[in-house]
Amino acid sequence: MVGGGVSGLSTAVKLSRRGHAVTVLERDDTPMPESADQAFFWDRRGAPQVRHSHAFLARLVGLLRENEPDVLDMLVAAGATEMPFGQDLPPTMVDFSPQPDDHELTMLTCRRTTFEWVLRRAVLNDGRVRFRTGVGVNGLTHEPHPSGLPRITGVRMEDGSQLNADLVVVAGGRRSTLPEWLSDIGVGPVPEFSEDTGIVYASRFYRLKPGHTYPPRLGPIGGDLGYIKYGVFVGDNDTFSITLATPTDDSELRTRLADPAVFDEAARQLVATAPYLDGRAEPLVSEVYVMAGLLNRHREYVVDGRPLVLGMLPVGDAVVCTNPLYGRGCSTGYWGAHLMSEAIDAHADDLQALAVEYDAAIGREIMPWYRAGVEQDAEARRVASRMLSGEDPDTDTSDPKTFMRSVLREGLLPALRSDQVVLRAFMRNLNLLSSPDAMMKDPEVMNRVFAIWQDRENRPPEIPMGPRRRREFLELLPA
Ligand SMILES: Cc1cc2nc3c(=O)[nH]c(=O)nc-3n(C[C@H](O)[C@H](O)[C@H](O)COP(=O)(O)OP(=O)(O)OC[C@H]3O[C@@H](n4cnc5c(N)ncnc54)[C@H](O)[C@@H]3O)c2cc1C
Repeated sequence: MVGGGVSGLSTAVKLSRRGHAVTVLERDDTPMPESADQAFFWDRRGAPQVRHSHAFLARLVGLLRENEPDVLDMLVAAGATEMPFGQDLPPTMVDFSPQPDDHELTMLTCRRTTFEWVLRRAVLNDGRVRFRTGVGVNGLTHEPHPSGLPRITGVRMEDGSQLNADLVVVAGGRRSTLPEWLSDIGVGPVPEFSEDTGIVYASRFYRLKPGHTYPPRLGPIGGDLGYIKYGVFVGDNDTFSITLATPTDDSELRTRLADPAVFDEAARQLVATAPYLDGRAEPLVSEVYVMAGLLNRHREYVVDGRPLVLGMLPVGDAVVCTNPLYGRGCSTGYWGAHLMSEAIDAHADDLQALAVEYDAAIGREIMPWYRAGVEQDAEARRVASRMLSGEDPDTDTSDPKTFMRSVLREGLLPALRSDQVVLRAFMRNLNLLSSPDAMMKDPEVMNRVFAIWQDRENRPPEIPMGPRRRREFLELLPA
């Protein structure tokens, strides 16, 4: 296993528990922290996103509950909270009645560092996995195979040593250089599809002061004003984080939000985040963490039904990397590990069938979410760039997207506060439990959304979730 992040650890847990001998090679060479709080300060420079807000979706929680319930128990013991659907509903949701499959809709809240720390403890506790830190891999070894495809036989390490393996799993994350390793052995090019998400992340972490609680949930915990996207994420052990994401091209806003005082004031201007910064909490660290270079990227390791190599499978961000805003990466990484373990169960003796079957499973289950995200990002980038140039994108009524934005703002958003059928469908979508287009294709759900949209003139206008215009927002921030 190359890489000991979420996907590498998930795959290690699954394969070792099926009786395979697993060695994880992780380049970051830092001691295992003693507690969740210490893990927050873990030196994980190989995965710098660990100190950004992370959502853990119901798809992931369900897979854990079904397959590794002890890991879920360890997470809860470390301070993570399971958030079942129906708990913490807005007070405007008056007609709520639980449904039989609501238990599937449980999310988990904790810091990403806590999640990974617990996963690593589970792997180490098992005693069946060799976990080597401070070991960077920089290439693959191979031999000919009767199929004519190169057969990967192991990895080369940065210190010049080699390790042989029946199967090499590459879980090197978004910065994985697997295509170069393949090129070094004469394989490729690896087809790659990549698009900038158009955003830069800024996150700040806080802890509730003693005796204080999280504010009650009165509406959505995140949203998009076009010029800024925002969200607040409850963590473990009384922590929470706020993320503000700015368009890549908006260097003014991005630079200003890197200042902690400006960041906090910005969060106080947004309806969803303001109650968290009313004096009930203090920063966990002074720093605002900023991360750019956020890509949607898919790399194809099986082309036209034929694997590029045998004996190597990529997992997690190394194969499909998605916009962090949708909070899917850890869930799809874990899900990918699950799909891989099923493919290995079915085809342990046939490397070609294994690669094809695993690739097909990723294509079937995970790629639709990747494609949906790419499409959504293209529209968000278009709106953001118009707002940056001072335009109001909603004045162009000839644009069908203007109509759709109005339906979202004045149909979907109020429906999420008052209609349990719409909220349930939305949450199933958000949590990767339905197909990306399931909600749009459900006539009952869409009829309910449109009915609320059509009634928009008969109720007070929607309360804006923050300043409508970028310039207005900027003027509210400290100089
Ligand atoms: C800002 C941000 C916010 C995010 N928010 C969310 C969220 O809310 N919810 C969510 O589910 N996902 C989120 N994601 C995505 C999520 O973090 C990733 O999808 C997830 O970390 C992928 O796990 P991975 O194991 O594939 O890669 P990583 O976690 O990046 O791990 C890769 C590991 O491989 C190691 N490595 C790399 N190369 C080598 C090598 N050559 N030799 C040895 N070791 C190597 C690295 O050191 C690292 O430890 C976010 C991502 C970002 C950037």
